Amino acid sequence: MNIEISNMRTIMSCPRKFWLESYEKKIYHQEEITREIIRYGGSLKHAELSSEFLGITLWATGVEIVVNEEEITVVSQRKGKRLYKYHYYEAALYGYVFYKESGKKTRVIFKSNFYEQEIPWENYVENALMIVGNLSNTDIPEPRINTECKFCIYSNDCLDFFVEKGSIEIIKGIGKVNLEKLNSADIKSLDDIVRNKEKVQLILGEQKGLKTWAQAKAFLDEKPILIRKPPKLNDGIFFDIESYVDFHYLFGLLYKDKYIPFIAREKDSEKDAFIRLLFFFSENDLPIYHYHSYEPNQFRKLLRKYGLNSSFENRFLDIYSIFTNHIAVPVLSYSLKPLAKYFGYKWRTNLNGMKAVRKFEDFLTTGDKKILDEILMYNEDDVRATKLLWDVLRKYT
Ligand code: SF4
Repeated sequence: MNIEISNMRTIMSCPRKFWLESYEKKIYHQEEITREIIRYGGSLKHAELSSEFLGITLWATGVEIVVNEEEITVVSQRKGKRLYKYHYYEAALYGYVFYKESGKKTRVIFKSNFYEQEIPWENYVENALMIVGNLSNTDIPEPRINTECKFCIYSNDCLDFFVEKGSIEIIKGIGKVNLEKLNSADIKSLDDIVRNKEKVQLILGEQKGLKTWAQAKAFLDEKPILIRKPPKLNDGIFFDIESYVDFHYLFGLLYKDKYIPFIAREKDSEKDAFIRLLFFFSENDLPIYHYHSYEPNQFRKLLRKYGLNSSFENRFLDIYSIFTNHIAVPVLSYSLKPLAKYFGYKWRTNLNGMKAVRKFEDFLTTGDKKILDEILMYNEDDVRATKLLWDVLRKYT
């Protein structure tokens, strides 16, 4: 069993996912160089080091290290505003692995734009090791609906389990309060919802009730269910942004079936790439389709950042919200990937948002064009997948 320490958050929300990921085969390239640096001193941006514990291989990955004769400093770069409990367990395991493998005093620092904190990892190591140790002794844990299901690659496997159990919790946006309302009206399963459409609408309100009913029916019938007819969608441009730590490095478009990327290879070229994007929008007066709220939000921020004005935002249309308001689909998550995959889209890379950031970092370090090509392919797949959902919507109009 391989445990990637950076996945500690998952153990708190879904032990099953953590367990499944721990058996996935992964390849680590940086361990040898990490061990050299530990031996001779120096620093490394993406260190990788493993250590055995009760038959488990614990992997410290994606951390920066600075090593001298007596001491190792492990730095984990984060994005959030504050530290959570799982960060302390994660820090404890980084400390454990580096200390055990080097014998050197080990400091662990977690850093983001909002904080920089050295974590007294020794205080948490006993609990952290107990958590991972316990997991290795169990059979595969049962699925448990949680916030990570939305992005989880195992969601299709878990879906059958949830549907078989009739779990209402899998209905998009049901929430605790509505769940309680339904329960107290003796509506306790997907089947109950489907058989009591009017009652559900009375309890949740007409629109919410209708969406809830359609979603339950979609799960039970294993096919999409029309909630209401979508609006007419005109031809347009499909838009997706990829971002690095402190700048947006790629504005990808699909226009007349042609993929057009505007790339910023460094922070200083972000403005130039953005202005080229604005020119494109001004020359092609069409609806701009995107998936969810990230693109319009970042677009607005960029306008503010560079003191620019535009009315292009009025042309933005969110395929996510059109889809979720009109068609119920038997999926656990309406994120772009699972939804488009349901309708047959096949991504050509195994990247996701997080992995793409790491890839781009590799590109910045190496300048390797192949890495950039892979990111472009991933971004192109995102805009093509958005277009595929647009095609699906058009079939229902
Ligand atoms: S879909 Fe949800 S329950 Fe299933 S493994 Fe993923 S996170 Fe866990």
